[in-house]
Amino acid sequence: MEHLDCRRSRQRRTNVIGNYDFKGKRAIIRVDFNVPLNEQGQVTDNTRILAAVPTIKKVLSAGGSVILMSHLGRPKKNPDPKYSLGQIVGAVEEALGTKVAFAGDCMGEKAAEMAKNLKPGEVMLLENLRFYAEEEGKPRDLKEGLSKEEEKAAKEAFKKGPQQEFAKKLASYADCYINDAFGTAHRKHASTYVIAGFFPNDKMFGYLMEKEVKAISSLMENPAHPFCAIIGGSKVSTKIGVIKALIEKVDSIVIGGGMTYTFAAAQGGKVGDSICEPDMFPVALEILELAKQKGVKLVMSPDALIADQFSQEANTKEAPANAIPDGWEGVDIAEQGKKAFLEHILGCKTILWNGPVGVFEIDKFATGSRVVAEAIAEATAKGAYSLIGGGDSVACVNKFGLADKVSYISTGGGALLEYIEFGTLPGVEAIKK
Ligand code: AMP
Repeated sequence: MEHLDCRRSRQRRTNVIGNYDFKGKRAIIRVDFNVPLNEQGQVTDNTRILAAVPTIKKVLSAGGSVILMSHLGRPKKNPDPKYSLGQIVGAVEEALGTKVAFAGDCMGEKAAEMAKNLKPGEVMLLENLRFYAEEEGKPRDLKEGLSKEEEKAAKEAFKKGPQQEFAKKLASYADCYINDAFGTAHRKHASTYVIAGFFPNDKMFGYLMEKEVKAISSLMENPAHPFCAIIGGSKVSTKIGVIKALIEKVDSIVIGGGMTYTFAAAQGGKVGDSICEPDMFPVALEILELAKQKGVKLVMSPDALIADQFSQEANTKEAPANAIPDGWEGVDIAEQGKKAFLEHILGCKTILWNGPVGVFEIDKFATGSRVVAEAIAEATAKGAYSLIGGGDSVACVNKFGLADKVSYISTGGGALLEYIEFGTLPGVEAIKK
């Protein structure tokens, strides 16, 4: 009986960072330090580093030591100095106010020795996990001329063999595992998914992950209505899954950005040189039909700002979104669209935004996205709950100085969309199971 009680309380404790006993323990933490660097290798935006600080400090202040692991960019070989995490050590030290030892690799004797000798209060950083193909579980040196089946079998074998071994080695450095990298939680990678299996009772979310999971699940499970999703960006092909999932949950979807023109062309409109995916016409029509069946309002801009080139020097004018002349492309919503989007957003109680409604990187084409960001801020001030996610929409609210005027900014782009689409993520499930 005593034994059972002990097991029960142990189970309850292990998954919550706030209750876990870190004293004398080494915690390996998957963080998202995939930060932008300039030509000199200096960190130009340390938001992601700062986001991991509460979790790291919690472990240190509770008497534990920390092994940080992350990816940086998309290296294709090992080592690749351009993608070395050695470049960010100073920025991490500054954020933490403590010394950080750099392992120079994530495998090998040195990394293992350093981890073994870590003392309470100490922090070390492993080298870029993606220097190893095992991290992503995709072999880089597949033989030429394999049949589809052979290729599939080779990939499976790589996941069962080398990827497992890689995750096991990482796990051997520590007593407990914390996943605080929401931005990569949609990946079944060694450090985000496989490694959790080596810590059946000693794995947990970091504070950032806890916050993200709570914000997104409460948005999807318990939203105040009317609930509106604003989905923009360049292509419909990358957002089909999420749009279909949202139709089941929301009252309306505001559709903006480049995908507008696939919808317009699918219904027989002329879109000139606008970005357009003809192979997505059936999907666009299916989405229109699905929304109709479910009573979900699709709000699209009736007009477009069109440009004769993709630059600040372009000539621009307004045109109906379904009658764009050749030689011109739709780059933003125009006056009627701005008015319609603004009015619609102001009437909502829950707002989710992913993807700019125009090419916001070019100032001349950014006013539609500015109107959307300002409308969300105004609705939030009136009591609506707003969640913004995805690198470009977050860049928009930052660009317009509205980051502190929305309810929640998610660090996830792909992860956020997949969470909405599937209701969970591999990195979340690996901790929960
Ligand atoms: P996504 O990653 O799919 O959310 O797309 C974001 C990108 O979509 C941004 O870089 C925008 O510049 C781009 N975008 C938005 N509207 C348009 C448009 N009308 N034509 C081309 N690209 C667009």
